[in-house]
Amino acid sequence: DLHVRPSMPLFGMDIGGTLTKLVYFEPDHFDDFDQEERETLKTIQRYLIGSTAYGTTGIRDVHLEMTNQNICGREGKIHFIRFPTSQMPAFIDLAKYKKFSGLASGICATGGGAYMFEDVFASEVHLQLHKYDELDSLVKGIHYIDRYTLKSECYYFSNPLDPDNCEKMPFDFQDPYPYLVVNIGSGVSILSVRSKYQYSRVSGTSLGGGTFLGLCCLLTGCDTFEEAIELASRGDSKNIDKLVRDIYGGDYSKFGLKGDAVACSFGQMMSKEKRKCAKKEDLARATLVTLTNNIGSIARMCAKTEKIERVVFVGNFLRVNTISMKLLAFAMEYWSNGLLKALFLEHEHISHILEVDNIGCF
Ligand code: ADP
Repeated sequence: DLHVRPSMPLFGMDIGGTLTKLVYFEPDHFDDFDQEERETLKTIQRYLIGSTAYGTTGIRDVHLEMTNQNICGREGKIHFIRFPTSQMPAFIDLAKYKKFSGLASGICATGGGAYMFEDVFASEVHLQLHKYDELDSLVKGIHYIDRYTLKSECYYFSNPLDPDNCEKMPFDFQDPYPYLVVNIGSGVSILSVRSKYQYSRVSGTSLGGGTFLGLCCLLTGCDTFEEAIELASRGDSKNIDKLVRDIYGGDYSKFGLKGDAVACSFGQMMSKEKRKCAKKEDLARATLVTLTNNIGSIARMCAKTEKIERVVFVGNFLRVNTISMKLLAFAMEYWSNGLLKALFLEHEHISHILEVDNIGCF
């Protein structure tokens, strides 16, 4: 609807349960903005582009920057910024201070926070949030990226069953339909995408990235996602889980279950002795593996019901988390006898892009 579409939409926000993602489209030229908007934009831009860290928790992901983009007939660059949603009060102060209200058009916003913070933005910052549905935006974002990135965006892991030869390879996403999207954020949503215009949310689980982080902080005393992943990278989940061989002494061959398959996540922790000597690293790894495998197995069931072979995993849970990506690639290949393919995107927090699509006037 052209009447509600903002006239100068250079920003987009996805205010999620854990992280707020902010995109900024930096136009190559400011000539066609009016004087007041130009001044506001320049102030904001100096602040955003002049630095890669904001306060103690805001980060600009320089490696995700997209150059030579054309949005609404303007050439420019797309920048990606994130900060914890818990910092929203500080962001609101900043928006007041930097006079975001000078942006006559308001800001495109999605995620639950677009609803939760709508009134505060209106009353405190005098800024209107133009709300968009997050799953619509996610699907549009994937299509935007697939059409507009020059570098290969989509990839998979070759030889997922062989850790020594398992390598990241580009995947041609030109004709992707149908495919499943597994969006692993705080929680998980699973979408079946049949065409550019047709998708449905087929399933989800509350056991997601937020669960991993919450449990990991509880079990290991760590404080951040980075720390949790770093601990997990040095841990061994076999010291925490019960494997088929811990119960059978070997394989359970009648049903094709190998001895090293997990029979019971955290099963060793039933023993007081084992609990006493459980290491933080092993607990972090077991938490990561448990959550990842659970999501993988729900994804497989959905793929089967929907009769879909390509499964695209996205969401910030996969950020700096090669362990989970390789595990998902393994699980898809192994448990489907090679039928399913796990795909990933360089912009794993694809919801970042979504507003670009909104501002892209498609
Ligand atoms: P949401 O929109 O629900 O916030 P995201 O796709 O942004 O979802 O993913 C959030 C999840 O990403 C967290 O639950 C956590 O597992 C993971 N994560 C990755 N990086 C961070 C970070 N810097 N801080 C907190 N969580 C992070």
